Amino acid sequence: METELPFLTAHEIQARRKAGSLTSEALVTALLERVQLLNPTLNCFLGVDAEHALEQARASDERLRNQQTLGVLDGIPVALKNNMAIEGQPLTCASRILEHFIPPYSATVVDKLRAAGAIVWGRLNMDEFAMGSSNETSYFGPARNPWDSTRSPGGSSGGSAAAVAAGMSPLTLGSDTGGSIRQPASFCGVYGLKPTYGRVSRYGLVAFASSLDQIGPFARSVDDLAVLLSLISGVDPKDSSSFPTDVPDYSAALKEADSYCPCIGVPKEYFDYPMDDAVLQPIRDAIDFYQRKGCEIREISLPNSSLAVPTYYILATAEASSNLARFDGIRYTHRSESAQDVMEVYFKSRGEGFGEEVKRRIILGTFALSSGYHDAYYLKAQQVRTLIRNDFNSAFEGVDLVLTPTAPTPAFRLSEQCTDPLTMYLNDIFTIPANLAGLPALSVPCGFTPENLPVAFQLIAPHFEESRLLLAAKRFESNHDIHATHPRLG
Ligand code: GLN
Repeated sequence: METELPFLTAHEIQARRKAGSLTSEALVTALLERVQLLNPTLNCFLGVDAEHALEQARASDERLRNQQTLGVLDGIPVALKNNMAIEGQPLTCASRILEHFIPPYSATVVDKLRAAGAIVWGRLNMDEFAMGSSNETSYFGPARNPWDSTRSPGGSSGGSAAAVAAGMSPLTLGSDTGGSIRQPASFCGVYGLKPTYGRVSRYGLVAFASSLDQIGPFARSVDDLAVLLSLISGVDPKDSSSFPTDVPDYSAALKEADSYCPCIGVPKEYFDYPMDDAVLQPIRDAIDFYQRKGCEIREISLPNSSLAVPTYYILATAEASSNLARFDGIRYTHRSESAQDVMEVYFKSRGEGFGEEVKRRIILGTFALSSGYHDAYYLKAQQVRTLIRNDFNSAFEGVDLVLTPTAPTPAFRLSEQCTDPLTMYLNDIFTIPANLAGLPALSVPCGFTPENLPVAFQLIAPHFEESRLLLAAKRFESNHDIHATHPRLG
């Protein structure tokens, strides 16, 4: 069956353009119409730069006609989570406090995309300041899951995942501090990859927790994911935490996927967690698949993983309380109109500008860092973080990859979990360890529950071994047709 236009992958789009059966302008026009049709329900996009997108599309079509050299994503639309700066466009972080902030510069990922001919065309919904797992903390209301619009697309990069799943953008970028790329990718049935800490420049990404944040790609195919990852990776003089190491050509590496046979570690602690069979079965089937293909499956132990969530919530909130101190009502945007003196400007602007979850985190983090408690909480959490990292180092002495579920549940109903922060925090139980250890990890769609909700497994690799993730995912993808199934919409 022929793939419908909105669900074409970037590779298929390029092939059709080169064959003369599709133009970038026609594609962008169709996607703009689709956003107009679906966004009132799905609320993935906070804004679209239609005129600029069409202009860029025509310029790319012109380059193709004139047989000029094309960039790797020439004429392909890519939308961004709204915590990455695009010069001249609102950078809200889905927060009232930044509602009217227009950055005077662009993130490095934006410059790289544009240099490769990509069309950076839209800003995507997210949890406020990337704090959340359901998109419900957004000041602009939640994005919704294209498979069932009464459900959450996951978070915090919910808009990025939902836009790809709904055929509104072939590619998007998100950010992942504790699972915010992988969990929504799992809920929406698309690929989402968190690169190694330091692999991708964060210049122009609004910081949440600086020792954990990473930008990463969403796509509907492994090939597309590989292209986008190669493009955004690499050291950047503007980001001292980006790592000076070569970026492999991930797409070229994928040619070996059919014969890739890694030794896969399955951590028993992750499968002891109480989970519904509807989620576990497709993941067990994926493990069987690799085994049938001749990969060795080995049970391993990551004994400190159960400490990851509390550790994360000390470290992430501590870093957030410090990073968010810059939003003070003086610089950037929202300033309270009722403030009578300078102290009130700070208190009221922050009080009015931040949502409840963000305030909760600032208070938690400030407490964890306060004198008298610093050693008991922050220092202790740093020590546990080292234990978690050591667990992975030992595991990778014996296996090439680790395979786990991405999330303990499929997409839950909106407002089902947001009244209880602790339940919400447990959503990231399987994703957080990779952030604490700085490891690359990928969510691979692998099936559906009986209610037709996507399920995914997560692959985790040693530092800078993203190729292994992509190779194993590609091997799975080529032998399954899950990726050809799309939500029925509009
Ligand atoms: N859900 C986690 C949190 O709320 C992770 C967020 C993220 O990765 N940005 O902190």
